[in-house]
Amino acid sequence: MNARVWTPDSWRAMPIRQVPDYPNPAHLRAIEDKVRRFPPLVFAGEADRLKAQLARAGDGHAFVLQGGDCAESFAEFHANTIRDTFRVLLQMAVVLTFGASLPVVKLGRMAGQFAKPRSSDSETIEGVTLPSYRGDIVNGPDFTPEARVPDPARMEFAYLQSAATLNLLRAFATGGYADLHQVHRWNLDFAARSPLADRYEGLAHRIDETLRFMGACGMSDLPQVRETEFYTSHESLLLPFEEALTRQPSTHPGRHFACSAHFLWIGDRTRQPDGAHVEFLRGVANPIGMKVGPTMEPDELVRLTEILNPANEKGRLTLIARMGAEKVGAKLPSLLAAVRRAGRNVVWLCDPMHGNTVKAGAYKTRSFDAILSEIRRFFDCHAAEGTTPGGVHVEMTGQNVTECLGGAHRMTEADLAANYATFCDPRLNAEQSLELAFLIAEELKA
Ligand code: PEP
Ligand code: MN
Repeated sequence: MNARVWTPDSWRAMPIRQVPDYPNPAHLRAIEDKVRRFPPLVFAGEADRLKAQLARAGDGHAFVLQGGDCAESFAEFHANTIRDTFRVLLQMAVVLTFGASLPVVKLGRMAGQFAKPRSSDSETIEGVTLPSYRGDIVNGPDFTPEARVPDPARMEFAYLQSAATLNLLRAFATGGYADLHQVHRWNLDFAARSPLADRYEGLAHRIDETLRFMGACGMSDLPQVRETEFYTSHESLLLPFEEALTRQPSTHPGRHFACSAHFLWIGDRTRQPDGAHVEFLRGVANPIGMKVGPTMEPDELVRLTEILNPANEKGRLTLIARMGAEKVGAKLPSLLAAVRRAGRNVVWLCDPMHGNTVKAGAYKTRSFDAILSEIRRFFDCHAAEGTTPGGVHVEMTGQNVTECLGGAHRMTEADLAANYATFCDPRLNAEQSLELAFLIAEELKA
C-alpha cells in the first residue's frame, strides 16, 4: 500500500482526525509560509545521533527516560519552569543510570509539546458549549468563545517559545548546570528530606561512593561527567506546523527531517494505518514513536511497524505502551509476542500515565501506586516474553504541584486543590518523579 510517493504534504490527501477548525484558511496559509522560512530547531545530525542511542536501548544497552509536561503553555513560559523540569529529569536519570547500570537517554517532552488531542470536539460547562481547548499552539484554555477560536498565529509563538526553551536546555546541558556532582547533590538533598529517607538514602549513598571513587581515579573532569546530552520530543499532531518545519538538509541529501524536535510521536488517537498522522511520520528520517493503547490489535501493530519502519532500522521506531495498570497484563504480552515473532526492531517504552487517569471530583488525577504498578507489570511482561523494556515515558514537572495522588507525602484528593496547575493531564511533581526513579532503580537493581 505504501508504494505511494511520500512528500512532506502527502498527508493532506489522507483522512485526518483531531484537526482544528481554522476560520480563515488564507491566514493559516500565510502563517505556514512564514514558519517555512524559520530556521530549523534541530540539526539532522542530532536526530541521527539520538536514533543510534535508541537503537542501543532496543538492544538492552541503554535505558530511555522521556518526560515533561502533558502540555507546555504560553502562560507558564519561564526560565524557572524549564530549569526545574530539566533538573528533575537529570536527577531521575542519574538514579536510573545507577539502577540500570546503563546509559540513560534523556528525552524531554519539552520545547514543542503544545498540541493536544481531545476526546471530544467541544466542552459544555453550565449549559454553555464551546470548542475544546487543543493546546496553546491552536487555541486558548480560557472558557470563552474568543479564546477557543483556533488562531494560526499561535504557531509563530509556539515556534519562538520552542526555540528559546531549546536554547536554554542546550546551555544547561553543556554549560555546567548538568554536572553530575551537582545533580547528585540535589538527589542527596531530596533523599534526606523524603519521609522515606531510609529507603532512598541507601541508594543515594552508593551513588555518592561511586562518584568519589571516580573522582579519585581522575575522572571528574570528563565531558561525560561535566555535560549531558538532552533531546526534545513532542506529539506530531498539528501537521501544518510539522510540515512547515520539515527540511531536506544539504548535509543529508535525499532525506527529509522534521526539524521541530529530535523525536516526534503519533498519539493513540491518530495512529490509523491509513491516516494522515501515520502518513506524515513514515516519511521523515527522525527517530519516531507511536503510542500503543489497549485497543491495539497485534496484527495492526505489526502492520504499523512495517509502514513506519519499512527498512526495519534499529532505533527508528519506539512503541510507547499506555495500557493502564489493570489492563497491561492482559493486553501487552500478545503485542510483545507479535512484534518479536515478526522480527520487527522496536524500542518499547512504558507510559504509565495515560491508562491510569481517573476523576476525583472536579479534577483529573492519577495515583502514584497505579503508575508504579503499571511500570512493574510492564517489566514483568517483558521478562516473560524475553523482550527488552527500553525505558519509561512520564508526565512530570519540576514544580511542586498537587495533581497526582499518593507518593511519600501521601497526597490525597483533599490536597489536589492546593496547587493543581496543569493545562491538560495531571503530572507527577518533583518529589513524586524522583521517588518513582528511585523505585524503578531498586527494581532494576534487584
Ligand atoms: C499524551 O501523551 O499527552 C497523550 C494524549 O497520550 P495518548 O496519545 O497516549 O492518549
Ligand atoms: Mn497527556
